[in-house]
Amino acid sequence: LSYPKMPQLVGSIDAGTTSVRFMVFDEFAKVHASHQMEFNQYYPHPGWHEQDAHEIIDCVYECIDKALEKLEQAGKFSKTDVKVIGVTNQRETTVVWDKNTGKALTRAIAWPDARTTSTIRQLESKHPKGVDAVKEETGLPLSTYFASVKLRWMLDNLPEVRKAHDDKQMLFGTVDSWIVYNLTDKQVHITDASNASRTMFMDLRAQTWDKKLCDFFEIDMDILPEIKSSSEVYGKVSHGMLKGVEIAGIVGDQMAALVGNKCFQPGEAKNTYGTGAFLLYNTGEKVVSSKNGLLSTIAYKAGPDAPVHYALEGSIAVAGSAVKWVRDSLGLIKEASEIGELAGQVEDTGGVYFVTAFNGLFCPYWDDTAAGTVVGITAYTDKRHFCRATLESTCYQTKAILDAMSKDSGVALKALQVDGGLTNSDVAMQIQADILGINVERPEMRESTALGSALLAGSAVGLFGWDINKPETLSKVNTADCIKVDRPPAASFPPVCHLPLVRPVFESQER
Ligand code: ADP
Repeated sequence: LSYPKMPQLVGSIDAGTTSVRFMVFDEFAKVHASHQMEFNQYYPHPGWHEQDAHEIIDCVYECIDKALEKLEQAGKFSKTDVKVIGVTNQRETTVVWDKNTGKALTRAIAWPDARTTSTIRQLESKHPKGVDAVKEETGLPLSTYFASVKLRWMLDNLPEVRKAHDDKQMLFGTVDSWIVYNLTDKQVHITDASNASRTMFMDLRAQTWDKKLCDFFEIDMDILPEIKSSSEVYGKVSHGMLKGVEIAGIVGDQMAALVGNKCFQPGEAKNTYGTGAFLLYNTGEKVVSSKNGLLSTIAYKAGPDAPVHYALEGSIAVAGSAVKWVRDSLGLIKEASEIGELAGQVEDTGGVYFVTAFNGLFCPYWDDTAAGTVVGITAYTDKRHFCRATLESTCYQTKAILDAMSKDSGVALKALQVDGGLTNSDVAMQIQADILGINVERPEMRESTALGSALLAGSAVGLFGWDINKPETLSKVNTADCIKVDRPPAASFPPVCHLPLVRPVFESQER
């Protein structure tokens, strides 16, 4: 007797920096429904970047509802076919809320926010190792980028946050924690090891919160979420269209994209070009410490008893956000896709270089005083050259990171897996292949971040026979096309980092 196979799907909440999406996948990673919503970004002072955590939750619910309506309308599946969901999120963005009311105590400080430069100077001066004060334990240099520093700033500058912390009324979390806390009606306050590895409160090797680190940043350990693996059942959605569905995957967006690109073996790497760009290189079960300005981080831990996989990471603060800036602030283009069309109309930038250091420079430079710079403009320059220089900027920064990675790992990459919004531009990816001198492989389905958390969630409950710890079970999932090098590699490297300018610091300014 054979029964018809029950339709099964897996959902993913992808809460990125600029937008939230909910996507529904089948066992081949085919997307059957999705909905995406942009949310507001607040820039109250130069270098500041804030978000409304409640708006993110509203978007999560609306995206779920709209995507499931589309799924039902398409007629092939029903919303009850979604058996399990995963969550993936912009990392480091810091949310604090009242543990009784569940209300955010202030706007979230988003990861690119650079207001904390003098907090960094103070922390550096507290430790003989300066900028490397916690590098050994956390894999991270002291930088405006990470959550601990943003939280320290809130405690030092916002009396209401300080009071809630001191009165033990406050909870802290990155966006994953905040979403799961809300989806479970305040019952579950957790994070996963990958997100925890970006807070600076976790010991990278032990994967537990570290008292010494918390003391260094002077925070109460009780405010922290419990650290879980990236793939296990954490709880169920308490209300809305997914009521009763298990949440079984949590992973930071860049780590999710590593999983979504199926970079499971040591030595495999991907670059995700979203708001920023993030190159992650799987180093397997061992922590590799970088001597060349890269981060050591947790990639994923696919199950409570599964081994942790680590990664070396090169983070670029500004990638797609430069395209957004050219569109929204300069008005040179109306749609993001126009940048590639304009850039493709010229052979080169005519000598223009654009250093997109809007919030200082991250890897491998770690220069929080660097400011955005354009050099090489002549009367010959027009917007096509400027658009090309904007795309080149991310591609050159990627080259700097790959060079650092091959120095750290001793192995040069043969091809680069890519995904994210900016990879929709063929011109940008051709520029990238040419600058690197290696092929760029772009998957058919470019939503690798959403897919990564779906794979981890599916794997936790054995959906479709998926098991992240046995990559052969995922051989049918999502295949890639290949952009070959068209021109010889660029002969010389432009001055990405040699123009540090000091920009005003608004750290103590009241909002
Ligand atoms: P995130 O998850 O960080 O919000 P996404 O992966 O959704 O980012 O990518 C969005 C970014 O990609 C935007 O900043 C946008 O400017 C850029 N982008 C989207 N489409 C294109 C395109 N065709 N060409 C160049 N840039 C693009």
